[in-house]
Amino acid sequence: MSTLPVFRWRLAPDGYATRRQLRARGLRPGGQDVAAQLERPRRRRGPLVAYLYRIDLAKPVRPMTPARRAALAKANAARRTCPACARDAGYVIPTSLGMCVSCAYPEQYAA
Ligand SMILES: [Zn+2]
Repeated sequence: MSTLPVFRWRLAPDGYATRRQLRARGLRPGGQDVAAQLERPRRRRGPLVAYLYRIDLAKPVRPMTPARRAALAKANAARRTCPACARDAGYVIPTSLGMCVSCAYPEQYAA
């Protein structure tokens, strides 16, 4: 049993948006509960439901800050660094090898 207001498809009131519509505006639900739902009747099946959030309670998508960017770059660099030779392989170390290709197959990649 839902106590949410239910609106018919395409008759959503102003001020409400789906998660995807929020995203298109650079917003996220931001922890708010679903405020309403849209239902589109379908033959012989339950209605198609879309959940709506209030735009006035939505929060901006977390921006990419310099600190976040640096943390991501560091994580990527770690994934490219070979644990055997400690060099940046220039690609992500395959987990199946656990080391860069030239360490895994030294005879084939000998300089
Ligand atoms: Zn290596």
